[in-house]
Amino acid sequence: MAAGTVFWDVDTQVDFLHPDGKLYVPGAERILPNLQRLTAWAHKNRILIVASADAHQKGDEEFKLYPPHCLAGTPGQKKVPETLLWNQAVLPNRPAELPADLETVGQVILEKQKFDVFTNPNTEALLGRLGKDVEIVLYGVVTEICVAAAARGLLERGYRLRLVRDAVHHLEGPKARALFEEVEEGGGRLVTTDEACSNPKR
Ligand SMILES: [Zn+2]
Repeated sequence: MAAGTVFWDVDTQVDFLHPDGKLYVPGAERILPNLQRLTAWAHKNRILIVASADAHQKGDEEFKLYPPHCLAGTPGQKKVPETLLWNQAVLPNRPAELPADLETVGQVILEKQKFDVFTNPNTEALLGRLGKDVEIVLYGVVTEICVAAAARGLLERGYRLRLVRDAVHHLEGPKARALFEEVEEGGGRLVTTDEACSNPKR
């Protein structure tokens, strides 16, 4: 897989998106219809979805800042049904084999225990397989935390980035707006779900 588009879904998990989740992001359930559209669009157009997912263990460093959430094996750690595809490959937070043929996989899940998806040692290898020309369409939660870490990591590595501004959600509005500006200044573009779900072959 060389040139093309990849959708990059950040932490769209029950504990963040559902009002009874362990670290519910207030109002985040409002982006569920857009998340569902993006997922369906990618599936229909055979666009690979790379999805990061918190998979925490008890005592993880992050729990000094936030209440425990997305503990591996709990219902809250699961991706919400709106963003889940059946043909997925899970890359745990330790060196692992990439799927032999990404064309047969709908969704690659990168498990992580910190904000930044690049802490999973398989992230770089996966990007290497996708190629430098790929355009990445980024969305999910939380805008100014884990989405920001992914956006910065991808821009620093020179990837073309589109951030779907109506398919992300924040805890702190001003910080989310600052990220939007930072992405644009860094050469990324802000798009809507409508724009992301059009013209699969650019
Ligand atoms: Zn976490």
